[in-house]
This record gives sequence, structure tokens and C-alpha cells, in this order.
Amino acid sequence: MKVYFASVQTETNTFSPLRAGARDFEALAHAPGAHPEKAELYTAALICARRAAANGECMLIEGPCWGAQPAGLIRADVWERMRDAILEDIQARGPFDIILLGLHGAMVAVGEDDCEGDLLSRIRAQCGPDVTIAANLDPHCHLSAAMRDNADLLIAFKEYPHTDSMERGQELWALALATAKGEVRPVMSVVDCAMMTMFFTPMEPTALLVAAFKAAEKEQPILSASLIHGFPWGDVPDFGVKVLVITDNAPERGAQVAAELAERVVALRGKSMERLTPLHKVAARALEPGEDPWVIADFADNPGAGCPGDSTFLIRALMDAGVEDAAAAFIFDPVAVSLAHAAGVGARLSLRVGGKTCSFSGPPLDLEVEVMHLAHNAVHNVFVVAPPLGDVAVVRAKGRFDLVITEQRSQCFAPWGYTDFGIDLSTKKVLIVKSMQHFRAGFSNTSRRFLYADSPGAASMNLADLPYRKINRDYWPFSAAG
Ligand SMILES: [Zn+2]
Repeated sequence: MKVYFASVQTETNTFSPLRAGARDFEALAHAPGAHPEKAELYTAALICARRAAANGECMLIEGPCWGAQPAGLIRADVWERMRDAILEDIQARGPFDIILLGLHGAMVAVGEDDCEGDLLSRIRAQCGPDVTIAANLDPHCHLSAAMRDNADLLIAFKEYPHTDSMERGQELWALALATAKGEVRPVMSVVDCAMMTMFFTPMEPTALLVAAFKAAEKEQPILSASLIHGFPWGDVPDFGVKVLVITDNAPERGAQVAAELAERVVALRGKSMERLTPLHKVAARALEPGEDPWVIADFADNPGAGCPGDSTFLIRALMDAGVEDAAAAFIFDPVAVSLAHAAGVGARLSLRVGGKTCSFSGPPLDLEVEVMHLAHNAVHNVFVVAPPLGDVAVVRAKGRFDLVITEQRSQCFAPWGYTDFGIDLSTKKVLIVKSMQHFRAGFSNTSRRFLYADSPGAASMNLADLPYRKINRDYWPFSAAG
């Protein structure tokens, strides 16, 4: 059994003005064969295949692994170069029995709304119908007909935060092997739920929905059941929440189970995520005393959803309301980082922070600050991701309001986004995270008080206000009927 693995992934926010270029993909790349032993979010199947190869069960050829911090559109030439490099690698080192891929599913390049469909259809055309093509997907993907028609197996993570990537990689590997051996014949059934929302899977009643998908998989002939959450900030024709059921050659039963699960999904409209707190009400809540610090998500400026990460709306609202003993991470501002590094630890200076990248960023904050901590080439090492932060500066403004400013964009996943840079969390009453939901796994031991701020930004949940041009507007919540 000869197996190939490659990965190319990012999440494209088509409303974000940040372009994803070659440098962005190189920042998180591994050359063929150079992937570390530890699985990353989209490369769990590679680690499974490596173990099988070490046991003599298969011969594994490792291709490139590219990933970029979510941003706006991918440059057309950059996408084509990565796509063609994978195709040429497969051609040069094949033929293969199994082609395993780590994909996101919401990549959009200039001139290409469906990068994954483009890649999968070219691989199928090049390799023919007999090769098993199997990919892990992020649930925040746009599941297209081109993706479904040109893959044998597509399996999305079930949890958001994506804490189950290893299990989904193992499933993909096991099913790909069974398919290539002729033990199963996977057939995919898809139902479009005609809606868009977010699903916070640890909370009820969404957790029950995840349980229903897992229960469906226990029944023969269901091989896999994925909830495709969709990605609200990708303006593409394949936009939407979908149910994907894979059976062992039982398309009628697959369609039936997918329809039953889709009914449960539709019943969760308006109930599947935490309510966002209007910006003008956040400060009053943040001043409520309590044992645990408030952890406040700056929801709409999440770099993990392609946003700039330098918006000032939430921080300004809290500062203006007199909130003290607070900290915010991470604010993307290479200029402020370099000015703070030049001044040195202990220096007091006037510093302009944030509000620089685009109109979603809001006006900058002009602050009198003390430089508290400096770091070079830092990395935010979290479970299955390790985004580089570049140089980092922590500055303290009035009211012991600490800002963790970074040279590179990243969402803040975990408390060590503060503690790694000298901030003592026992002294803080409010922690602001540029994140949407991934922070929830990392901060669950730090606090029981969470708020999701409805701040303006490139990932605003006020979907009706976004300038979509390509989606189906008959879907809920754009149309009440859905
Ligand atoms: Zn995701």
C-alpha cells in the first residue's frame, strides 16, 4: 500500500483586507518529510500513517505541509504554485493507493472561490478513479460539489474548539485504509440546512447535537457523520451549514440519516452559540466583582477568523468606563512593538497602539505607557498549534491596563498568552482575548466568567450587515424561512 500525504490550509475571510501571500504560508510550512513528530491541527492523519509505515503496513511518501494564519484572499499565483507543487509531487513520486490530505475547506484565492474543490478535482483527474482520496476538514469549511465528487472520504472535526483533531485523523486513516483494501465502499450523502450560524460545541444544547452525530456513526452502514458548520465570513456560492454522512455503499440510508440530523441542526437555529453582549453593556458587566476574572472575547476581531487583531473598540470602551487591572492579548502592531523595544523595559513613553490595519480596526489608542516586558521571536505554543508572534512588548497604561502587543497576528488561545510575558493573572480582574471560541478550551481552568463582546469587526456576527454578493440570501438568518 503506497500512501501520500500533503497539507495546505488557511481560512479565508473574504471581507478582510489582509491578503495571504507566500510569506504567510512559509511561516507555518514544513518541507516534505520535515513535519515534527507531534500532530498539528490538520496533520493528524500524517502521524497515523507514519505509525503504520513504521509497522510495515504501508509505504508513506510525505509531501509539503503549508499553512497560513487566517487572513483575506490568497494571492492567485501563491495558490496556484502550492496546488501545482502538490500535483507535480504526486505525479513524480506516485502512483499511490491512498492520497491523504489535511485541508481546511474555506480557502478562497483571488479568482478561485473553491480552492479545495480545485485541488481535489485536479488530483482525481490526474490519478484516476481507483486511488482513494481522503481529507480531514475544518468544520468551518464550505463543502462544495467539487470537493464531494472528487474525494472518497471527507471527515470534519466535530468540536469547536477543535479539540478532537487527533480522533478525526485516526478515523480518516482507518477508513482510507479500509477503502483502499476494498473492505468498504464509501458513499457521501449531503443535506444543505439552508442556514448560517456558529456552533459552540461544549455548550448545551449544541453538545447534544454532537452526541447525535456520534450516535449515528454507531449504526451500520454509517461510516462517518460530520456537521459542516460553514464559515460565515466567506462570501462564496457554497456558503452554508451542511450535514455530511458517509455510508458503506448505502446512499439511500445515508440520505435518510443526513436528513434526520439536518432536522436537529435546523431546530438549533438561534440556540447553538453564546449570546453576544452589546458593546455598550460590556463595561458594566466587566465591573461586576467576582472571584474569577472576566474573560471577554473580542469576537469580531479574531485573527483566527482572518481579522486584523488590532481593533480598539472593546479596549477603548473598557478604558473609558474606568475598568482597571485588565489585560488584553494579542494586539497586532509591529510599529508599536518596535517603538517599545527601542525604549526598553521600564521606559515611560507616549505610544500609539492598534487601530492601524484597516477601517475594521477603529481609531488608534494614544496612551501614556510603561514598558513592562519585552520578548524576541516568541511563539504561542498551544496543543496542536504554535503560531509565531514575532517580537512582543507588554505595555501598561493607566489603571494597570496591560496590553500584549505582537509583531505577528495570532488569536490568544490560552492563559500563557499573558503569563509567558510576565503578567500575573492573580492581579487581573478582566482578560480580553482576541478570539472567538478557541480560547474557551485554554481558559476553562482560569475562570468561570466568560463574555462574548459584540464589537464591530471583520468577523461581526451581524451577518445581515455584511456586503455578501455570492451567497444564497434565502438562507436563515438572512431570510426568516430559510
Ligand atoms: Zn475552525
